[in-house]
This record gives sequence, structure tokens and C-alpha cells, in this order.
Amino acid sequence: ATAVQFQDVSRVFDKVRAVDGISLSIEEGEFFSMLGPSGSGKTTSLRLIAGFEQPSSGSIKIFGQEAAGVPPFQRDVNTVFQDYALFPHMSVLDNVAYGLMVKGVDKKTRRERAEAMLDMVKLAQYGERKPSALSGGQRQRVALARALINQPRVLLLDEPLGALDLKLREAMQTELKALQRKLGITFIYVTHDQGEALSMSDRIAVFNKGRIEQIDSPRALYTRPHTPFVADFVGTSNVFDSESARAVVGAQTPFSIRPERIRIVDAAPATDAVVVRGELIDIHYLGSVSRYEVAGPHGKLITVVQANGDEEVSRRLEPGAPVTLAWERHAMHLMTV
Ligand code: ADP
Ligand code: MG
Repeated sequence: ATAVQFQDVSRVFDKVRAVDGISLSIEEGEFFSMLGPSGSGKTTSLRLIAGFEQPSSGSIKIFGQEAAGVPPFQRDVNTVFQDYALFPHMSVLDNVAYGLMVKGVDKKTRRERAEAMLDMVKLAQYGERKPSALSGGQRQRVALARALINQPRVLLLDEPLGALDLKLREAMQTELKALQRKLGITFIYVTHDQGEALSMSDRIAVFNKGRIEQIDSPRALYTRPHTPFVADFVGTSNVFDSESARAVVGAQTPFSIRPERIRIVDAAPATDAVVVRGELIDIHYLGSVSRYEVAGPHGKLITVVQANGDEEVSRRLEPGAPVTLAWERHAMHLMTV
């Protein structure tokens, strides 16, 4: 079944088109991410699903039902906010049970269900504490337990790991994904962190200026970006516009190529690989790999990443050296603009 469907949805604030004609379909049980830079319309899209905002035009359906006129609390969705929005004066257990209290569930059932939720997020021992006596990661889990206690069919998460340090964030990514698999709930996950989106999602919508540039699996987004924006935002890529494409390959269709698909070679290979000559500008030794910045035709900067084995190229090259680059034609992704 389709969990959430947008049909040509826009949301305009004064003069800002926060969401500008978006259409998408999110399937039940999917881990779906909305990825994009700050201000690209992700939070507004999430708030439209939750019912905190109304579309200026277009239609939103939740499990096949027109959402217009349905208030937030009657939608089968719950939200985890970036700042967690926990009640500071309530115990952890009462925070988690809050959604059941609002529904009028009796005290004994509330307690049992809240304890089970805390157990699920590995906080069984912390029920009596106040949120202020927890670490950031633990508060994040309380917010998750609280949002899940009403068994929503869709969970909306707005940059839920943004306040955590890198190591904890990576651990929580693994936990969130495992939890989503176990519960089979649809997760709609907002982030500006491409690594986070790539590692957790079934599909990702890439947002830019209120529009969606591409919706695809992480692998497809990375290997076949449709637009220069996607190529640049998801991972690192060398984007050649029509002018530099003509200088390098003699055709003016813009294309992108990943740094790890370009080789630094001693002599032009005999295959029909693309061969480009340039000057080495800089080398960054990164341990298992090195990154090379090369000035190609017309000064076009090309980034190359190569694994450092026994034949480590960086050991025998200095900035200023002439280098020959080669890549296979099938490694290039032609783009529509
Ligand atoms: P993101 O979550 O991707 O950072 P938002 O959806 O929060 O982006 O915002 C998209 C655009 O809409 C931004 O330019 C933002 O300033 C604007 N915007 C969001 N909410 C409002 C509002 N309530 N009033 C006016 N402008 C808003
Ligand atoms: Mg936001």
C-alpha cells in the first residue's frame, strides 16, 4: 500500500516557495529519506504530512485518504523532533506514556506499555529519572519511544540525530534502521547528511530549493545521479558542464564522474578510455587512499581518489608534475540539466 502520496504539492510563505510542486509516493514499510541542504523544504514537507502545515495547492493522501481537513492528532503519523521536545518536569516513564494518557488509557496499561517501549530502546533502568539526568543519546531514545508508543503507521523524524556527536550518531543510525526493520513501520527521515541518508534508506528524495531533483535508491543516486546538483550533493563528484565536457571528451553533454573511477596512469591505455592530461596541483594523503587535485584542460579542476597500495602513486609525484588521467566511458554519467 502507499503510505503517503504528494500530488503537485506547494507551500508558499509570503514570497518564499518553501515547497514547490512536489510529487512523490512513499510505500508502506519503507525507510524513506528527504535529503537536501538547509532551506530546501524538507521540514515543511514533513510538517505537511503531520498536518502542522496546509498545502497552498496540490493534494496529500495518507493511506489513500485525502489529508485536507484531517487534524494532526487524527493522522496515523507521529513525529520525532530534533530537539526531542521532552517534558522536563515529568519522569522518563511518564514522558513515554504521555500519548496513552492523552488517549485515556488506564494507568496500569500505560505503565506496562511504556516499560515495554523503554525496554525496546534499551532504557529499561531509566524510567524514574528526569530527562535532564540523561545523556543526549538517551534523550533521543526516549523521544523515539514516546513517538512509537501509539503504534503509528508512519514515523516522521526531523534530523533526529543532529545534536549527537559523530560516534553516537553512527551507533544510533544502526539502531534506528534495526528498529524500523523490526517494527515494519514506515519511517520518513529528514536529514542534510548524505552519509546518513545513504546508509539507512531504502529510497532517498534529494531536495533542492523546494523541489525534488531525484528519487532513487542510495546506490542508484550515487552511481547514476540525474542532475549536477545530485552528483555534487551526494558523495563527491567531478561535474563537467557542456563547455568542459567539450574540452575533455569532445561532446557537449554535461556529465559527472566519481573521483575513485579516475586513474592516474603512466601511459595512455590502449582501450577506448578517456584520456586527459593535466598538472598535479595538490596531494592529500588520507591513509588508505590519497586525493589528488589536478588542473585539466582550460584549468578545470579534477579530483581523483586512488587507493594506496604498494604502488602508492603519491610517493613519486609532486605538485606541479604533469599527469595523465584515464577513465572508462561507462563510468561517466550523462546528465540532463
Ligand atoms: P529545511 O528543513 O530543508 O531546512 P524548511 O522547510 O524549514 O527547509 O524551509 C524552507 C524555506 O521555507 C526556507 O526558506 C524557510 O526560511 C522558509 N520557511 C519555512 N517555514 C516558514 C514560515 N513559517 N514562515 C516563513 N518562511 C518559512
Ligand atoms: Mg529543517
